[in-house]
Amino acid sequence: MVTEADCIFCKIVRGEIPSKKVYEDKDTLAFLDINPANPGHTLVVPKKHSEDITKSDEEDIAKVMRVVKNITTNLKEKMNAIGVNVMQNNGKPAGQIVAHTHFHVIPRYPNDVVVISYQRVQLSDEQLEEIRKKLSEEKKRSFDFDF
Ligand code: 5GP
Ligand code: ZN
Repeated sequence: MVTEADCIFCKIVRGEIPSKKVYEDKDTLAFLDINPANPGHTLVVPKKHSEDITKSDEEDIAKVMRVVKNITTNLKEKMNAIGVNVMQNNGKPAGQIVAHTHFHVIPRYPNDVVVISYQRVQLSDEQLEEIRKKLSEEKKRSFDFDF
């Protein structure tokens, strides 16, 4: 487990290592990815450390999403992005390398070489229904606010 003391994004939040900040408030920080998929690739993080979204504070994520939305608009208006991917990886199998909850905001440009791909699986109506039931039970159990 990565502690706050060792976490690279906590170090960025604390100003112990430099970053190219594009937005900051008391709870949220957005900065340019050091190894971007495209120019303007931005990372948005809650300042409070959590390993991934499952461990994060719901209110912090709500605040982060507001910033994600504004950065998406800025990338289109100020960087001439023709599209934007918002990505969020949880756990090594999902591609997460830095263990501090973060959202990728990746601008897309004509003829860029960004590849975000997955193959589809075929599920029957029964299988979809079984999954729907499981997830709606989970929702009731774990969410502490109304949508
Ligand atoms: P993940 O694979 O965990 O979803 O993405 C981590 C991202 O953090 C990568 O895109 C990587 O380029 C970026 N990154 C890793 N270390 C640093 C750093 O020290 N500074 C900045 N600005 N970005 C970083
Ligand atoms: Zn951290």
